[in-house]
Amino acid sequence: MNKLKIDFEKVDGLVPAVIQDADSNVVLMLGYMNQEALDITLDTKKVTFFSRTKNRLWTKGETSGNFLNVVSLTVDCDNDTVLVKARPVGPVCHTGDDTCFSEENRSKTFFIDELRAIIKDRKNNPTDKSYTTSLFAKGINKVAQKVGEEAVEIVIEAKDDNKELFMGEAADLLYHYLVLLEAKGYELDEVMDVLIDRHQKK
Ligand SMILES: [Zn+2]
Repeated sequence: MNKLKIDFEKVDGLVPAVIQDADSNVVLMLGYMNQEALDITLDTKKVTFFSRTKNRLWTKGETSGNFLNVVSLTVDCDNDTVLVKARPVGPVCHTGDDTCFSEENRSKTFFIDELRAIIKDRKNNPTDKSYTTSLFAKGINKVAQKVGEEAVEIVIEAKDDNKELFMGEAADLLYHYLVLLEAKGYELDEVMDVLIDRHQKK
């Protein structure tokens, strides 16, 4: 993250910085950075701009607490725009909106990857109290059977109109499906490869 070759003279001392949610990929806001703002951003891992209206350095969240925690920082092809991938602590815009473009920043599918990591950990480092560990201990047949049971339960809820119950079964099915993949020693990415491949053949 330190080899950023920005020619600040070419850009009159300020480069635009596009801030993107590192997990959902939604564009959150745009600000400007001078050399000092960039250095502070890199040092503190909190997005810091040079505010043209305040005419001073401004760490996003310094008053609201809604910091933007830096995940990565890259410079574009001609070294005059910065792309910051960050995780927002709270709403990004001063209006209370998720983004400065009045968009919702809702995708939480990144949590699937976190869940997969937890499931893998429960397999590799068994703990007595973990339900996931107990599933792995019972073996592949039991895990597969659970996926079948959860599939039947979501079918039953699909016929009814209770969103809460349906969501519970949807979560159960997804969780047990991920456990089954892990029990088989396969990665979700391999399933994605099959889907991408099918899509490209069309
Ligand atoms: Zn805003």
